[in-house]
Amino acid sequence: MKNLQNIDAKICLTAAGCLIHEGQVMLVKHKKVGAWLCPGGHIDPNELPHQAAEREFWEETGIEVSAFNPDLPTATDGSEYLPNPILTNLHWVSQDNYQIRTEGKSSTSNSKLWKKGCEQHLSFIYLVKPAGKNLDFKENVEETDGIGWFSLAELDDLELFGNVELEIKTAFSLLK
Ligand SMILES: [Zn+2]
Repeated sequence: MKNLQNIDAKICLTAAGCLIHEGQVMLVKHKKVGAWLCPGGHIDPNELPHQAAEREFWEETGIEVSAFNPDLPTATDGSEYLPNPILTNLHWVSQDNYQIRTEGKSSTSNSKLWKKGCEQHLSFIYLVKPAGKNLDFKENVEETDGIGWFSLAELDDLELFGNVELEIKTAFSLLK
């Protein structure tokens, strides 16, 4: 898909957290999307992107996390350096809407899955680490069909978008 940035589509801001612990990454199988993802979702109004990643992670796994960068400086003047996403990805979330747009139509009403009228998602992907001692997940059965810890080798057996696999591998390489 070319010219992602030059189509007059609705862009939602979203955030996701990549938690890697003892060589395994925590993934959830998203019901709507039908694939394994790092826990995440839409950024609420007035919410900072990294906070959205932390909130969504907690909502989808029951694990409290905080977003971080290994080398983030501490501001000394009362301001704050926020965690940077390790990657920012722009993609179509609805194949229906992509086709409608590229056929030159403007209606997005036939997207059955996405009540918010989602077309493109600008997704901020953060490294997250446990905020407490609890690493026992609790499945969110309303939004997900599965949850678990996976090693890099196990990713091959999962239904996984190419960009998500790339994001997970990037996170692993940053934590080496
Ligand atoms: Zn959306």
